[in-house]
Amino acid sequence: MKLADLHLHTIFSDGTYTPQELIEEAKRVGLSCIAIVDHDTVSGIEPVLEAARSEGVEVLPGIEMTVEYDGLEIHILGYFIDYKNKDLIEKLCDLKKNRIERIYKIVDKLKDMGIRLEAEAIFDIAKQGTVGRLHVARAMVKGGLVNSTSEAFGKYIGDKCPAYVLGFKLSPYEAIKLIKDVGGIPVLAHPYSLSRNELIPKFIEYGIMGLEVYYPEHTRTKINSYLALAKKYNLLVTGGSDCHGSAKPEVKIGSVKIPYRLVEKLKEAKDKF
Ligand code: AMP
Ligand code: FE
Ligand code: FE
Ligand code: ZN
Repeated sequence: MKLADLHLHTIFSDGTYTPQELIEEAKRVGLSCIAIVDHDTVSGIEPVLEAARSEGVEVLPGIEMTVEYDGLEIHILGYFIDYKNKDLIEKLCDLKKNRIERIYKIVDKLKDMGIRLEAEAIFDIAKQGTVGRLHVARAMVKGGLVNSTSEAFGKYIGDKCPAYVLGFKLSPYEAIKLIKDVGGIPVLAHPYSLSRNELIPKFIEYGIMGLEVYYPEHTRTKINSYLALAKKYNLLVTGGSDCHGSAKPEVKIGSVKIPYRLVEKLKEAKDKF
């Protein structure tokens, strides 16, 4: 049976796999199809498509967009976006700058807590990638300020922690519209992280077309409840590992594998657009 992992990150956001490594790893674990969904960027799509050429792994172009809603950080996936669209690229350029400014704010908050970390140390790790908290956590480990990235999230930069900065520009409605405007299918990422289940119908109202039902943190009970919701609201079903390479070594590529018929359903929805 053909299997897919539709949630993968690369060096173009906060993952550590280069396009070539991503394709090699996908083949090694027996995936027929993968989706690249880097945070707020499409820069990695073409290089991954190029690396996959004649390697026998199908690559779906995608993105994972961060939005802010009611004080919460929420992630929305977009599959089959036209990643060459000028308006999209311009918007993403804005978001990239916004993320850089956010790093300086995080650094200031850490300083208030007596933690000295230079913003440059974070940018050095992120390199060309859209910079985010996983880079902050890695810089803290490298600087000997914490023993692990989990400790960095647990004590300092995790949601609701003292050095956490929200500050994302897009609302769910705007991100969903942006994805749809460039022919993409918006899917609510890892719904367990929403903490408030009643938000799901709200996002459906905003135009979400799918739910990321299969995800490492989703228990069988959660999966069943999301499947029931998907059925009730006629939503597409997706899934993936959210692998970030060695930045999160415990989350392996292909640790969530979904049947290819779910990819076919996505494609049918795309064709009806
Ligand atoms: P950001 O987009 O900068 O807010 O960072 C979000 C990213 O941080 C997620 O995509 C994960 O890669 C990572 N992340 C969030 N929470 C944790 C956590 N508790 N442990 C490890 N990584 C996390
Ligand atoms: Fe990430
Ligand atoms: Fe996410
Ligand atoms: Zn992700």
